[in-house]
Amino acid sequence: MRAIDVHVHPSTARGQLLVAEGEAGVEARYRRMKHPVKTEEEMARDFIELNIKGLIIAWDAEMSTGYPKVTNDYVAQLAKDHPQAFLGAWAMIDPWKGKAAVRELERAVRELGMIGLKFQQIIQGFFPNERWVYPIYEKCVELGIPVLFHTGTTTLGAGMVGGGGYHLKYSEPIPYLDDVAADFPELTIIGAHPSWPWQEEMIAVLLHKANVYADLSGWAPKYFPDSLKREINGRLQDKLMFGSDYPDISPRRWLEEFEAGNYKPEVVEKVLYKNAQRILKLAL
Ligand SMILES: [Zn+2]
Repeated sequence: MRAIDVHVHPSTARGQLLVAEGEAGVEARYRRMKHPVKTEEEMARDFIELNIKGLIIAWDAEMSTGYPKVTNDYVAQLAKDHPQAFLGAWAMIDPWKGKAAVRELERAVRELGMIGLKFQQIIQGFFPNERWVYPIYEKCVELGIPVLFHTGTTTLGAGMVGGGGYHLKYSEPIPYLDDVAADFPELTIIGAHPSWPWQEEMIAVLLHKANVYADLSGWAPKYFPDSLKREINGRLQDKLMFGSDYPDISPRRWLEEFEAGNYKPEVVEKVLYKNAQRILKLAL
């Protein structure tokens, strides 16, 4: 296996992110980004061909958007049906569902075997450090699972009037993510994506908080900011993981550009799979 892709969205009809922008928005987005809608088998083949294994992400922002979710059951089963392509799946719950969300998280981990929890705060509409969300983190600590938070800007709503009504403020690393890391030292926190326009903030959090990590998804490696490139080769080489954000960025393109960058061979190994194995406690 060449790499573990820790950040994968389904490209299937049932898994499309119509979730954030509605049918019309998603169709426009898919046309703009040239995503064909795939069958489950075709999607799996995209990973098998590259000899990589992905972690698929569910979706639930029903309370804030009114759009349907991509269920935990669906992505967990998709991963199980294609073990050569996928190592597992991230659960997503809508924090606004309160106790029902906590119960669903517990079910997703204990019954479906999901490996962690993902949030997209811009679409879900909450700051990670709001106290009413803390019971969810307590449950994550109890279950021993990591939490993956969106950081930086997002393609969802991008270019639409009012950005689709979504607020970027929810995904700034300091203070929102940093507060959670300080208040839950036993919680493994992962910031998704290079955190533009707050890359330097995220680097500061990564250097300061031992329980915070990041994935490098959703951004073509050729265009990583210089400060991030330096840290990948240096102080943050044990904290960063490959993720593509498939289908927005193809893993093929991501890997080609990353492998063509000036990274030390041992750093490439760490970022492509060794860090993910260790941080996410993945059994291969
Ligand atoms: Zn994503």
